[in-house]
Amino acid sequence: MCGIVGYMGDQQAYPILINGLHRLEYRGYDSAGVALLNGHGLHVHKCQGKVSDLEKHVEGRDLGGTVGMGHTRWATHGPPNDINAHPHVSSSGDIALIHNGIIENYAAIKEELAHRGHLFRSDTDTEVLVQLIDDIRRSEGVDLPEAVRLALNSVVGAYAIVVLDQRDPNLMVAARKSSPLVIGIGEHGDHFIASDATPIVEHTKNVVYLEDGEIAVIERGKGLKIRNIKNQDKTPFIQELEMHLEALEKGGYDHFMLKEIHEQPRSIRDSMRGRLNLVKGEVVLGGIKDHEEKFVKAKRILIVGCGTSWHAGLVGEYLLEDLARISVEVEYASEFRYRDPIVDEDDIVIAISQSGETADTLAAIELAKGRGATIIGICNVVGSSIARVTHAGSYTHAGPEIGVASTKAFTAQVTVLTLMALMIGQKRGTITGSRFFRLLNELDAVPEKVEKVLRNEAQIRYIADIYKDATNALYLGRGFSFPVALEGALKLKEISYVHAEGYPAAEMKHGPIALIDEEMPVFVIATKGGSYEKVVSNIQEVKARKGKVIAICTEGDTVVRDLADHVIEIPDAPDPLVPLLSVIPLQLISYHIAVMRGCNVDQPRNLAKSVTVE
Ligand code: GLU
Repeated sequence: MCGIVGYMGDQQAYPILINGLHRLEYRGYDSAGVALLNGHGLHVHKCQGKVSDLEKHVEGRDLGGTVGMGHTRWATHGPPNDINAHPHVSSSGDIALIHNGIIENYAAIKEELAHRGHLFRSDTDTEVLVQLIDDIRRSEGVDLPEAVRLALNSVVGAYAIVVLDQRDPNLMVAARKSSPLVIGIGEHGDHFIASDATPIVEHTKNVVYLEDGEIAVIERGKGLKIRNIKNQDKTPFIQELEMHLEALEKGGYDHFMLKEIHEQPRSIRDSMRGRLNLVKGEVVLGGIKDHEEKFVKAKRILIVGCGTSWHAGLVGEYLLEDLARISVEVEYASEFRYRDPIVDEDDIVIAISQSGETADTLAAIELAKGRGATIIGICNVVGSSIARVTHAGSYTHAGPEIGVASTKAFTAQVTVLTLMALMIGQKRGTITGSRFFRLLNELDAVPEKVEKVLRNEAQIRYIADIYKDATNALYLGRGFSFPVALEGALKLKEISYVHAEGYPAAEMKHGPIALIDEEMPVFVIATKGGSYEKVVSNIQEVKARKGKVIAICTEGDTVVRDLADHVIEIPDAPDPLVPLLSVIPLQLISYHIAVMRGCNVDQPRNLAKSVTVE
């Protein structure tokens, strides 16, 4: 959460910064701001609202300068308003700072600095840091990088920061701990800084991912130097970005979310590419090869994640238990990390996160690592923190996901989990050869089947129109479809602001059934296989109470067609693969309801992507 960008080079900084902020807006949109350094000193422009509001706000102002930084905020401390917007400036007016993260001991530092005469303007934790750096710089008589280093030694919490000082216009300092930061190195000595690579890719493909506890010092004409907060020099490790610019554009769709829903045939295929070999009849996950043995012998697997990734983890539980016969526990990373869980060196922990930066998941990983467990990461963003701190892992290769509500990342995570379960199941001998081959072939056919589901969009839009004014909704499923019911409800909540609950279908009679009336849409995943008959009975129960049933059923199912108010058919698939198909209409329903209700689909209120705060 919070997007930060910085630039130093020969070009004008402002257009680069604004463009970068647009790319990072998925990370927060409570306020936006820029700071520019030119011959006339430091110029800070900031306001509540989105990046487009900032663009209006700066019209007619001095925007010159070849050094600058920008911020788009997801507020943690202090309401979204103009004053709390970043950049924050020290009382002397010399130093400006942008921040992504939380300074946990800000209150104690603030009190101390206030005693020393510093005046605070905002309610943020961030302002403490800029005042502290300025205070140290003056009282200790040190240069900016050293002042930043000393200040960071006394803060507790998470940060990615960029700092500018108008007395040193040829210097830009950045640092990180637990919040991401990437530095792009341009061909002509330009340097770019950003929370992720999306603002950088159109300028350069050469990047350095800053490590925790590192401070980057960029000096005009001298380039990039890295040291850590213990004052040890580090050699920058330059990597080449694999990202493509087209992946960051809407490509003709009205919203990123819609584009990402429609990309799923491709993204699911990309998650399987080079991993599923039909000819040889095997699954190879290169990233976990060295830990395969441990995986195969594991008695227990713990899966940690948050939000949609947690739902993917639940599908993973069903997959791994069914195919590999290993006992699996799925945990919310935020609960896991704070409750002294039982973990030991025989355990495998799978950590799932789209961004690879989710703060709670990272903390859960550290905890489990400390207890000797083997940690396998499943994340989408190459080079992200989770990818780096885990022992092994598999990227989902879904491509950048910009819509705040996750869609293609979910199906990519489930695809990787399916591959994992198949691979481990085969190696453990818990799955028969014929079932293995059938599932392999069926998995290979999933992208085409997803395409087929997407072709039903007009019908799904028609159903969305009927239920767009609902105030509550229920989502039901059993077995592999239960986590999908949870995911469907989450999608509706987060982008349409309609209260929705997901339940295992059989649980309905233990409470939620009391909510059912003529107004209540009930989305039921009732595909053939597994507990089909039981789910059909659940549909009967809803209908007996006059609820409206929208069923996701298998093509050609006339029983469900006769019972339900509406059916959305999906192609037949074996139970373990149904989540990859049944979630698609639920994503589309939520999308269309949100659009019809006039909601901002890509940037739902109060939410942001890449949750780098706890
Ligand atoms: N804590 C800072 C603020 O509230 C930064 C928030 C963030 O990174 O999400 O302004």
